[in-house]
Amino acid sequence: MLKFFNTTKNIILILLFAINHEITASNKVSTLERRADSIMRVMVNEYHNQYKKPFNYINLTDSTVWNTRLYKFCKQLPKGGELHIHSTALLAFDDYCSFLASQPNIYIQIEGDNIGHTLYRTDPYDVPAGYLPARICISKEYLTREKSLKLYTFNGCSHDNPWKDFQPIFRRIFNGAFGSPENFEKYMEKAFNIYIENNIQFAEIRIGSTIDRDIFLSMAEMIMKACNNVRKKADFHVTIIGTGNKGYSLEEVQKRIENVAYVQQHIKDTLMNKCNLITGFDLVSDEDKNHSFEYYYDVLKKCEREYPDLKLFLHAGETKKAENNNIKWAIKLGAKRIGHAYNMYFHPELYDEIRQNDICIETCPLSSVNLGYCTSLDSHPNIGYIHSGLPVAICSDDPTIFEHTALVDDFFAVIVDWNLSLSEVKQLCKNSITYSSLSKKAKKKVMKDWEKRWVKFLEDTVK
Ligand SMILES: [Zn+2]
Repeated sequence: MLKFFNTTKNIILILLFAINHEITASNKVSTLERRADSIMRVMVNEYHNQYKKPFNYINLTDSTVWNTRLYKFCKQLPKGGELHIHSTALLAFDDYCSFLASQPNIYIQIEGDNIGHTLYRTDPYDVPAGYLPARICISKEYLTREKSLKLYTFNGCSHDNPWKDFQPIFRRIFNGAFGSPENFEKYMEKAFNIYIENNIQFAEIRIGSTIDRDIFLSMAEMIMKACNNVRKKADFHVTIIGTGNKGYSLEEVQKRIENVAYVQQHIKDTLMNKCNLITGFDLVSDEDKNHSFEYYYDVLKKCEREYPDLKLFLHAGETKKAENNNIKWAIKLGAKRIGHAYNMYFHPELYDEIRQNDICIETCPLSSVNLGYCTSLDSHPNIGYIHSGLPVAICSDDPTIFEHTALVDDFFAVIVDWNLSLSEVKQLCKNSITYSSLSKKAKKKVMKDWEKRWVKFLEDTVK
């Protein structure tokens, strides 16, 4: 009886402690959040006083901005994960150049008709004329920083047809870093290490699915290897979304889906209970010039039926044209997330459908400005989606080509230009985890970790 009484008393005491602790903790966090919010606004004002208004994304390429308190705050911000980024442009421009220079088997064309083209060669005698080792090109300034910016980024792009400029940049970038599995693994590892430094816990990487499924499998293996390498130092997660192109025929798209599904079956995240490394499928490229999702409806619906573990994360509405209905079709297709959703402001009737279907909008603020969809962030429609209470996550798209640092610069830009409160920023970070394609177990782990990081971040900010 006494034992029972003591046990009951202990349980009550534990409960009282837990309730009390909970209240204290939540009060503490909310007080901290209020104080951190005021500090964040002071930092934004400091930035505005130092730099001209309105905010120009070009400011982010000015290294003096990187020393502002606000920029450091954005680096430290626990951002959750990156939901929309393409494998060919994971690194900031300077990091990409230092990666090229660090690899002895990457060569760059400095004379000829394709200046800046990167090439992988193991035998120096096999290197064509006009190419020099990347470390010489970059360190000896055969390719000055200014010249490299023109070759690997949108710097100097006229914006008349930015999609046209994409292809040559991809072609230059692709063969060096992606030329061998070893280089690809090192490239991925460098990106993951930088993400960890910038308080990013995971990345969902979009990779073009190859015609030969074994090449795609070997790329996935290298990504898993790179992730496991960085896991020796820090907790990090990665997933892959295989992509096709909106210019493909129906048969080609069908084939790419089959390849992605095949690879999904053949590689798992062994350190995370063998959960899926490959989690989804998407179709990319210029929506104004290519096929619509209406055109691909049957083949994508079939994908959903035949491969239920392969979810659809679709680029849709990345256009200024009201008549483009890709968002409507992406919703019909059961997409879990929609990339960009830029033109949805023409279709407010879709807001409710987005809400009811709990679809997250992958907002890539700096990408939209760089691609010329809006002239400044002030006129970016996705701030309206946040104010309408739609689930939004902030994403980077193509950091190398847009001369940005993944997520850090995007958060910096929206904090400055969208006048967000810290609680709105917090929601954006949390959404990236909630709407990720991580396994249930990984998601729970990442969220728990994020909550700890958030409290520490607030404490560090108010210090
Ligand atoms: Zn994209």
